[in-house]
Amino acid sequence: MRNDDTIAAIATAPGRGGIGVVRVSGLGVSEVARRIVSISLRPRVATLSKFLDCGGEAIDEGIALFFPSPHSYTGQDVLELQGHGGPLVLQQLLGRCLESGARVAQPGEFTRRAHLNGKLDLVQVEAVADLIDASTAQAARCAVRSLSGHYSYKIQLVTDKLVELRALTEATLDFPEEDINGATRSRQAAQLAVIQKEISELLAASGQGSLLREGVHVVLAGQPNVGKSSLLNQLAQQDIAIVTEIPGTTRDAIRQSVNLDGVPVHMVDTAGLRETSDPVERVGVERAWTAIQRADVVLLLLDTRQGETEADRAILARLPDRMKCIRVMNKIDLVGLPAQRGRIDGAEAVWLSAKTGAGMELLRNMLKQTIGWEGNVEGVFMAHARHLEAMRRAQAGLVRATAETERQELFAEELRLAHEALMSITGEFTSDDLLGEIFSRFCIGK
Ligand code: GDP
Repeated sequence: MRNDDTIAAIATAPGRGGIGVVRVSGLGVSEVARRIVSISLRPRVATLSKFLDCGGEAIDEGIALFFPSPHSYTGQDVLELQGHGGPLVLQQLLGRCLESGARVAQPGEFTRRAHLNGKLDLVQVEAVADLIDASTAQAARCAVRSLSGHYSYKIQLVTDKLVELRALTEATLDFPEEDINGATRSRQAAQLAVIQKEISELLAASGQGSLLREGVHVVLAGQPNVGKSSLLNQLAQQDIAIVTEIPGTTRDAIRQSVNLDGVPVHMVDTAGLRETSDPVERVGVERAWTAIQRADVVLLLLDTRQGETEADRAILARLPDRMKCIRVMNKIDLVGLPAQRGRIDGAEAVWLSAKTGAGMELLRNMLKQTIGWEGNVEGVFMAHARHLEAMRRAQAGLVRATAETERQELFAEELRLAHEALMSITGEFTSDDLLGEIFSRFCIGK
């Protein structure tokens, strides 16, 4: 794929809107502007202009903005045409850009160019998509921090220390092992310990960030009428998480996503989990079970007056071993019990009323504890699986290095591998395949 030819896309969401933006980037931007915009543009000055068709007739009238290279999002010449947000107008404007030498941009191609031109490293690129996908205010805040380079900087700081240690080590390689003195060895060990500690801290902050980004899946199990819908409503009352559809999720099993202190909690209802002979319903039941296999926590709702039934035990028996379970004893208002936290058969339990709301705060706190959410967004790194994997790889290299201080060549090699792993996070060593995978998640026009 060429990276300097002229690309164009409608950058605003499909459908009708007040304003719609067509964005153009590449070598041919000046030519596109010359043909479409009726007056000449000064760099970075919003200019009211007619947007012309090939016969010189106005398609629309709006604001044109020209960002000459290198001071633009992509680092190339960029033109933005802000017209009226109707699908037809925008299609015509895009068509006009294509007639003037542009081609339709691939998903994420503007951001890809920004990356290739050194405007954004890979952590920042991923933060762009995270910000667009964020479903809670906390997740959005975290993504903005990554986008501004906060975490790239932290990774850079650790990487710099590793580079320093590598330089010290490489300098010893020219000497026979016996000439390397104890002072050098203890300096190496001290530097190594600092780097390991900092990566551990980054990893801890990343684990919290994964929760913010991905959220958790919570299964709501229980018999009809125990109060599952009421509990969902109570949880949702505080804040509903704004969740966009993620391809591949089983929509019919997911009822609602709620916002638990910034963590999107995807509630999976098991209302339909009963034996059935109806083939269509059976498909639904199987899908629900598939969703459950991926869940992190199960809330087993019980009517305090009845306790656990045979059907509840059957559901519990089918849940995967690792799954954490909280018994929710509902309807305490009917028996006059106070809201409280406790245990049933050694398992966590909470007594509450989904109707009055008594005990809901206890349940929220138990959920947060169970998923390991510390609730402090500051300092959290919105990590992706590949970041975690790279940090763990770096950490493993450093652990192996600790065992090789007597053999400087092996020590140096482990440091090199750890360095490579760290650099892959911001994208210094990135394969085309990885770039393709990252940008395929983007929308067209971003
Ligand atoms: P689901 O079938 O499990 O989703 O249960 P619903 O949430 O639809 O509740 C069934 C009935 O129980 C409704 O009439 C609710 O108003 C009632 N209910 C749910 N929770 C409570 C509660 O904590 N106390 C009382 N008194 N009634 C409740």
